[in-house]
Amino acid sequence: MTLTSDQYLRYARHLTLPEFGVAGQEKLLKSAVLLIGAGGLGSPLALYLAAAGVGRIGIMDFDVVDVSNLQRQVMHRTQDIGTSKAQSAKRAIKELNPGVQVELYEEGITSANALQIVAKYDIVIDGTDNFPTRYLVNDACVMLGKVNIYGSIYRFEGQATVFDARRNAAGATAGPCYRCLYPEPPPPGEVPSCSEGGVLGVLPGMIAMIQATEAIKIITGIGTSLVGRFLRYDAMNMSIRELKLRKDPTCPLCSAHPTITQLIDYDQFCGLKRGESAGSAESGEPEEREMTVQEYAALREAGTEHLLLDVREPFELGICQIDGNVNIPLGQLPQRLGEIEAWKDRLIVSQCKSGRRSMVALEKLKKHGFTKVVNLAGGILAWADEIDESMAQY
Ligand SMILES: [Zn+2]
Repeated sequence: MTLTSDQYLRYARHLTLPEFGVAGQEKLLKSAVLLIGAGGLGSPLALYLAAAGVGRIGIMDFDVVDVSNLQRQVMHRTQDIGTSKAQSAKRAIKELNPGVQVELYEEGITSANALQIVAKYDIVIDGTDNFPTRYLVNDACVMLGKVNIYGSIYRFEGQATVFDARRNAAGATAGPCYRCLYPEPPPPGEVPSCSEGGVLGVLPGMIAMIQATEAIKIITGIGTSLVGRFLRYDAMNMSIRELKLRKDPTCPLCSAHPTITQLIDYDQFCGLKRGESAGSAESGEPEEREMTVQEYAALREAGTEHLLLDVREPFELGICQIDGNVNIPLGQLPQRLGEIEAWKDRLIVSQCKSGRRSMVALEKLKKHGFTKVVNLAGGILAWADEIDESMAQY
């Protein structure tokens, strides 16, 4: 591969770096990176990797641009509102660097498509930060021996590391994987970042730049990577802490004797069903907010702190109710929010007879700034059917 005269001009500032040179640029031009999510992390990643000359960029996202994305998802423009994030990403990349080959996947990642898509790339960067995707990406990368560049953002804090599953001659991976840290997903209801939390607009830019830097270093083979090192960035104090990560010799996935040998679709997290934007680009913002009665029973069993808000009429509670509830009928909810003010940032499980009124209640609560509200799917009827058969039904 030889650079064209246009490429000599475009990448001049890379070419004059002695550690980089023509050889480094050629490696970038031949490389392929898959970005999962075209949102907060995906936007700066796509722009800078395209600018740097990564030859082929895959974009996986099936969400559409919303006005509230524009505070941080800098490759989308006001005029892109309502259009596909993947298409908007392609437009942004092509405007910046027409030489980049862009491949779009307007779908979510699943156990059915993950291996096939990941196999086409050298490096995967997960910008979605939701549990089903995180485990699928990690597992697919380990199974295929790929590099997975991890980043996560929450309010004013971000994290980044590199999981390098490229294998040596003996078959061992180069570094730890996500399951070396967290072998299994946490139980429903215990995921702190699942509320639709705020995020400082510049924060994803900071973390994405760490991810992009690592991608470029790994592709060109320069510097010391973040493999085995976990960075925690605190924007409030402008500090970075580094933790050591070690391979777990008993890891269920990347150890010599793995117990996980195929991909797993984790659908239920933080009591939330996998939402429409599960494959999209947002950190910790699943869309659907429902919990099955089995999950709720497990949550009670675990003693997870929560408020059970029963929004039925008082006479209905006379027929049956779940212990420990607070009763505010749906019609009175707007006037009585003060009574549950203390639960604004704590878990509220919204419940009615069938799950319909409680969903309306959930919407109202979210509008009033309650951040962790989950609907009990099927309501008390499902509870009576599945969990407590002695309960009277109506
Ligand atoms: Zn592992």
